[in-house]
Amino acid sequence: MRDQYGRELTDLRISLTDRCNLRCTYCMPAEGLPVQPADQLLQADEIARLTRIAVEQLGVRQVRFTGGEPLLRKDLVDIIASCAALEPRPEISLTTNAIGLSSRASALAAAGLDRINVSLDTVHAATFLEVTRRPFLDRVLAGIDAATAAGLKPVKINAVLLRGVNDDQAAELLEWSLERGHQLRFIEQMPLDADHAWERSTMITAAEIRARIGERFTLVPDDEPRDGAPAELFRVHPLSGGDSLGLVGIIASVSEPFCADCRRTRLTAEGGVRSCLFSHSETDLLGPLRAGANDRDLAELWRSAMWSKPAGHGLDTDDFVQPLRTMSAIGG
Ligand code: SAM
Repeated sequence: MRDQYGRELTDLRISLTDRCNLRCTYCMPAEGLPVQPADQLLQADEIARLTRIAVEQLGVRQVRFTGGEPLLRKDLVDIIASCAALEPRPEISLTTNAIGLSSRASALAAAGLDRINVSLDTVHAATFLEVTRRPFLDRVLAGIDAATAAGLKPVKINAVLLRGVNDDQAAELLEWSLERGHQLRFIEQMPLDADHAWERSTMITAAEIRARIGERFTLVPDDEPRDGAPAELFRVHPLSGGDSLGLVGIIASVSEPFCADCRRTRLTAEGGVRSCLFSHSETDLLGPLRAGANDRDLAELWRSAMWSKPAGHGLDTDDFVQPLRTMSAIGG
C-alpha cells in the first residue's frame, strides 16, 4: 500500500483499547476520558481479520499493538498468537506501561511477541506519581524485569521529558537503562494531551535532550541506516572515552519531523483508519466489516484512506489545530 507521495506503508499500529490505568499528564486528564462500550471495539477475530488483510493484501510487515493500555485486554495473548500465524509473518511488537506484565510476559513471548516498548519517564516513585497520577512504579519495574526474563530483549524504554518535572533526570534514566541492557528512547512531547497544556516554547526539544545527556555521556550518531525508524540512534560512550555502553534513541517528532519517511498506517480501537497521528478524520472499517464487506472491499477502503496521507503533520504551520482525540484514544 502506498500513499500519494509514494511512501510505502508497511508499518501498522493497532490500538486495542482506549482505556488506561494511568493518567499521564501529557496524555489524559486526571478524571479520565469517556470510553467506548466494549462491543464497539474491535473484537479479537476482527483484529485477526484486519491484520491478515493488512499483511496479505496491503504489504504490512510490522504490527505494533498499543492503546490505551493493551495489557487491559484479556485476549491479548490470543490476538498476538493469531498475528504470529500470518504468512508472511510480520514483526510483532507491543507498547505498554507494563502494569500487569510481570504475570504475562512469558505467555506473550510464547505467543509470538517479538519486541516490547515500555513507557517509563522516571525511576523515582515521587516523580512517577506526579507524571502518571498513580503510585505504580514498582509494578512497572517488575513488568520490565519479567519482559527481560522472558527474552523480550532489549526492552525499549519510552520516556517523555517534562520541564520542571523530570527533565533533570534524563542522564540518570539513561544510566539506569544502560546498566540493565534496556534501550532508552526519548520522545518529544507532542500536542496530544487532553488538557491542551502543550506549548512549543516550553517543551523539551531533541537538541536540549542531547545537550542534557551530553553533560554525562558522549553521543556518537549510529552508523546503521535509519530505515524509516522514528528514533535517531546514538552510541553512548563515557565522557572519559572508551567503549560504547549501548544505544539511546531520540524521537524528535516536533522539532525534527521525519514525516517524509513515515511508513505508518493506524487503526483505532474502534476500527478507524487514521493516515496520520494528527489527522482530523478517520475511515471506519469496523462498520463495513460487520455489515458483511469482503476482504477485497475492506482492503480497498483502507488503501484509499491511506492514499491521502498528508505530506507532513503540519505542527510547524500557523494553521495547525490539535486533534480532538488524545494519544490514549488514538493509539500512541
Ligand atoms: N499505555 C501504553 C503505554 O503507556 O505505552 C500505550 C499507549 S501510550 C499513549 C503510548 C506512548 O505514547 C507512550 O510511550 C506515551 O509516553 C506516549 N505519549 C502519550 N502522550 C504523548 C504526548 N502528548 N507526546 C508524546 N508522547 C506521548
